[in-house]
Amino acid sequence: MSLRSYPKVELHLHFEGAAPPPFIRGLAKEKSIDISKIFDEHGGYAYEDFDHFLKVYEAACTTLQTPEDFYRLTLAVLEESASHGVVYSETFLSPDFCGGGDLGAWREYLAAITEAADQAERTMGITLRGIITCIRHFGPEKAKAAALCAAETMGPFIRGFGMAGAELVGKPKDFAYSFDMAREAGLRITCHAGEWGGPDMVADTIRDLRPERIGHGINAIKDLALVDQIAEQGIVLEVCPGSNVFLNAVPSWQAHPIEKLRERGVKVTVSTDDPPFFHTTMTAEFEHLAKTFQWNEDDFAELNKTALEAAFCDDETRARVAKRIEDKL
Ligand SMILES: [Zn+2]
Repeated sequence: MSLRSYPKVELHLHFEGAAPPPFIRGLAKEKSIDISKIFDEHGGYAYEDFDHFLKVYEAACTTLQTPEDFYRLTLAVLEESASHGVVYSETFLSPDFCGGGDLGAWREYLAAITEAADQAERTMGITLRGIITCIRHFGPEKAKAAALCAAETMGPFIRGFGMAGAELVGKPKDFAYSFDMAREAGLRITCHAGEWGGPDMVADTIRDLRPERIGHGINAIKDLALVDQIAEQGIVLEVCPGSNVFLNAVPSWQAHPIEKLRERGVKVTVSTDDPPFFHTTMTAEFEHLAKTFQWNEDDFAELNKTALEAAFCDDETRARVAKRIEDKL
């Protein structure tokens, strides 16, 4: 079986960050928005460093203005994911980008996204679930609005709450109120940490926000006692190696700590983060893992098992996806 068609479970995907560039260019043209500066000569997204990436990301988001745009985005993203063998995907959604954080507006966007996701499940054999994220560099007050949107719309589709954005802005405890609100509402918790921040940031995030999963978490490797704590507590890392290498969070695939973390007992999963921005796909991630660490189908089966167990969906959905994986193998 080719690595492309091998069934895959992805847990860490920023929805707007997964928007195929031709899709965003098409929307910009329809709406006469000039964002030509964010594309390079090959038509991909162009930016210089992580902070500039966040600006380009936000510029791309200006084309996504209505629930109908998100309906179309959902189909475009899932078509791309399904073409790389993804059978289950969890995506980060930000009410800040869907109606400016207003709950009433958010409900309309969510209805459009879930309608498209249901259609994709029927026609493409891929299941989508949502995790609402606050954006760290927008500050704790905006985070509360995002947490409220999450708490009010939790259901079969919205399953979790998390935080993305510039990791080195503010401290985890500044956002504890929002995470507590989300947890009390019954949402599952994940949070970006240890991509740019060091092991202290990972430790503070675990202590103050109590996530079940951590986005990236790779810098935990610099403190082996912390790695052991993560393993013992069963906290799952949403590792995005291609993103880390592309953004130079680690110098190379060979230097990536995913294998060391796994060997030390940490539950690792693999995702693409913002695939077109980082010139990656789930197929490319699997190919690099096979080439760099000699991962084979047993390792990929373990990866799927870990990811599906750590997925925030309900058990009925989990069983349906497990069956779908079985059927494809
Ligand atoms: Zn991310």
